[in-house]
Amino acid sequence: MVKITALDTYDVRFPTSRELDGSDAMNPDPDYSAAYAVLRTDDPHGLAGYGLVFTIGRGNDVQKAALDALRPYVVGLSLDEVIGDLGGFAARMIGDSQLRWLGPEKGVMHMAIGAVVNAAWDMAARHAGKPLWRFIADMTPEQLVSVIDFRYLADALSPDEALQLLRTAERGKAQRIEQLLAEGYPAYTTSPGWLGYSDEKMLRLAREAVADGFRTIKLKVGHNVEDDIRRCRLARAEVGPDVAIAVDANQRWDVHRAIEWLRRLADVKLAWIEEPTSPDDVLGHAAIRRAIAPTPVSTGEHTHNRVMFKQLFQAGAVDLVQIDAARVGGVNENLAILLLAAKFGVRVFPHAGGVGLCELVQHLAMADFVAITGKKEDRAIEFVDHLHEHFVDPVTIRDGRYLAPTTPGFSAQMFDASIAEFRFPDGPAWQEPLHALNA
Ligand SMILES: [Mg+2]
Repeated sequence: MVKITALDTYDVRFPTSRELDGSDAMNPDPDYSAAYAVLRTDDPHGLAGYGLVFTIGRGNDVQKAALDALRPYVVGLSLDEVIGDLGGFAARMIGDSQLRWLGPEKGVMHMAIGAVVNAAWDMAARHAGKPLWRFIADMTPEQLVSVIDFRYLADALSPDEALQLLRTAERGKAQRIEQLLAEGYPAYTTSPGWLGYSDEKMLRLAREAVADGFRTIKLKVGHNVEDDIRRCRLARAEVGPDVAIAVDANQRWDVHRAIEWLRRLADVKLAWIEEPTSPDDVLGHAAIRRAIAPTPVSTGEHTHNRVMFKQLFQAGAVDLVQIDAARVGGVNENLAILLLAAKFGVRVFPHAGGVGLCELVQHLAMADFVAITGKKEDRAIEFVDHLHEHFVDPVTIRDGRYLAPTTPGFSAQMFDASIAEFRFPDGPAWQEPLHALNA
């Protein structure tokens, strides 16, 4: 009988602040980082499961400590106790009565649980010899519903309704798998839009994005309204009327300020405004949405659990949402969120770009297309072209689309050499004096 022998954790940080990659109005100098988790087994073929929490530098050690706190829930279990009961495995960690005090179901502890849950799904998919999106697509509606925690959801989505949605999607599933493998899934790119870039660099990258086949680009906004008006108009002139431009304020504004600011950007015809205000302000998002209609309003990358998504949908606060593979309690909770979004008819544009996030979230979007909504051409997964070289099974983008992964697992495994090089604070990449302040 195969057993889980270890939960190994690593603090891995990339010094992205040197080039201002990832810079926005709220996060001016991020060092993209991963609190990385490996479930090891005594399987003779070396079966393991990989997961991570994305952070942006300081605090990655805190996140790693939260992963370490979960060891008693993992080590010593049989393989079947983990991958044969992915719902129960997650529920036991979420239900720990002492750790729960640190949330509940939000923040550092919940993100750690999400990474370990994702590592378990990675291991399950590897064991089945399937990429995760396909592993999910091949589960029955009953199996999928059994991994979801419907507590706090039933007033918006009952298990029976979820089952109905999934059963309806059974029709045409085989065809959609073929379609996905042939066509890929639409992507949009944020690569041109970091706030720390010059106008010239932004325009060059916007031009390249359109040439590469992207139909939507996203710019960071929220630092200075005159700069935003200039950059958005320059970008519009560069890409023309047929390429969509979204903007992202990363929580920068009060509700009134958001409304004033966005009215001044109205002539740019925005595809959406992302995170205009606090991610917890459900009614604030609803007020902004009413005030700036028809510009679509969006949030989600910092929405910490399914209960917050439920309220955003119930309040009519958003036109679309981001999901994040490493923010909530893993695949289980993201399935709940995808089903909620399907029920409320809200489109999902998954958040990615942070280290490993593209690799992970593509599987959830593709599973949604095949097994839940049957839709993909009216939505897109975020793409940023950096740090993919550290992953064993990196994303493949062609003509502005994610190609469906075919390698077994959840694509979260990093190269051992990358971990050694960027381990904080002792890896060689961190030995330059420039970064002494981060220590
Ligand atoms: Mg964002």
